[in-house]
Amino acid sequence: MSYIAPIAKLIEHFRRLPGIGPKSAARLAYHVLKMDKGQATALAQAIVEAKERVSYCSVCFDLTDADPCQTCRSEGRDRTVVCVVEDPKDVTAMERTREFKGLYHVLHGSLSPLEGVGPDDIKVKELLDRVGKGVQEVIMATNPNVEGEATAMYIAKLLKPLGVKVTRIAHGLPVGGDLEYADEVTLSKALENRREM
Ligand SMILES: [Zn+2]
Repeated sequence: MSYIAPIAKLIEHFRRLPGIGPKSAARLAYHVLKMDKGQATALAQAIVEAKERVSYCSVCFDLTDADPCQTCRSEGRDRTVVCVVEDPKDVTAMERTREFKGLYHVLHGSLSPLEGVGPDDIKVKELLDRVGKGVQEVIMATNPNVEGEATAMYIAKLLKPLGVKVTRIAHGLPVGGDLEYADEVTLSKALENRREM
């Protein structure tokens, strides 16, 4: 079945989104076409506005619409503890636990030699720059899979000579899983039972 050009184009864009197959892409495209003009424009504008207004915090590299981000600016956060995560989605997961009161550092990935991701491709150097500015503990909260473990070990090795305590969140998290899918209780426990590396 061939679509008329504007619909084909819309479907193609939806297909590029994660988890969207051809059928879902077509369903979304037809849904957009059924929207009234105001709704469709609002959707398009929301995408443009999010892309324009959201950038990375220059301190922790979380997504933010103001730099430094709200967490880094907050007076109520414990500046001696930094929790290192792979992805901005993991910050959201940690915040949902309401247990963690320190600051974050988002690596934007994990070390993966097979996929050609080395230390210079993620925010490792930026983390080392932050340590020494009053940070006493770094909690490695990378995902409990092979890449996440390797990343935690690699960074711990770099941090230890700097005289900072390095801890790893406890297992209890599903091995091979993603932090963002862990429920709040599991994640709270993993944080509470962290061990020194
Ligand atoms: Zn920040």
